[in-house]
Amino acid sequence: MIAVLRYQIIPVTHYQQNCTLLWCDETREAAVVDPGGNIERILSVLVEHNLSLVKILLTHGHLDHVGGTAALVAAMQATSGSTLLPIEGPHKDDMFWINILPQQAQMMGFTTPQNFQPNVFFEEGDQVGFGNIRLQIRHCPGHTPGHIIFFHAETKLALVGDVLFKGSIGRTDFPRGNYDELVNAIRTKLWPLGDDVKFIPGHGPMSTFGEERLNNAFVADKNFG
Ligand SMILES: [Zn+2]
Ligand SMILES: [Zn+2]
Repeated sequence: MIAVLRYQIIPVTHYQQNCTLLWCDETREAAVVDPGGNIERILSVLVEHNLSLVKILLTHGHLDHVGGTAALVAAMQATSGSTLLPIEGPHKDDMFWINILPQQAQMMGFTTPQNFQPNVFFEEGDQVGFGNIRLQIRHCPGHTPGHIIFFHAETKLALVGDVLFKGSIGRTDFPRGNYDELVNAIRTKLWPLGDDVKFIPGHGPMSTFGEERLNNAFVADKNFG
């Protein structure tokens, strides 16, 4: 029997970042992907669906995706007692972004968040689980060097952070960004997962890989002969 994965997108911060709550329908165990901020909103969705949060998953080190991490760990610790919520991801090459959260806050007009240290860094091909759900990890550098994506093979759902958007791709003008690397990651790591894969991007509406292969101005198949 296949465990059912459910999700709810919770746009957070003034960047309207698509923080996403994922949960296993059988066990009610949940993981939150990219808690950029507005943690009271995230906590209320947990209560609304009667879920127990077991980990935080991070796609990359940009503040609008990770800014609420330390506050969420603290809030969960306050309600649940001693156990610290594990922080898993991104790839270790994004640690330099996490190390400069105060500078990111200044640039983006956020209040400076508390710093944190991930408990696990992911590599290409790793898996991560909560409840009876398993997600596959792909390392997709280019927007940031340590950007990862999460893929649920059974329901063909991907959470791609700022790698790919409906009609666009992530910015590559940041330190250690690389346009060619990003396009290559999209074409060699995402497209093979299937045209019918639905994806939740870091910002904006959902789409499918097939739709982007047809119509995305940056990575449509027709751009590459
Ligand atoms: Zn980003
Ligand atoms: Zn973003």
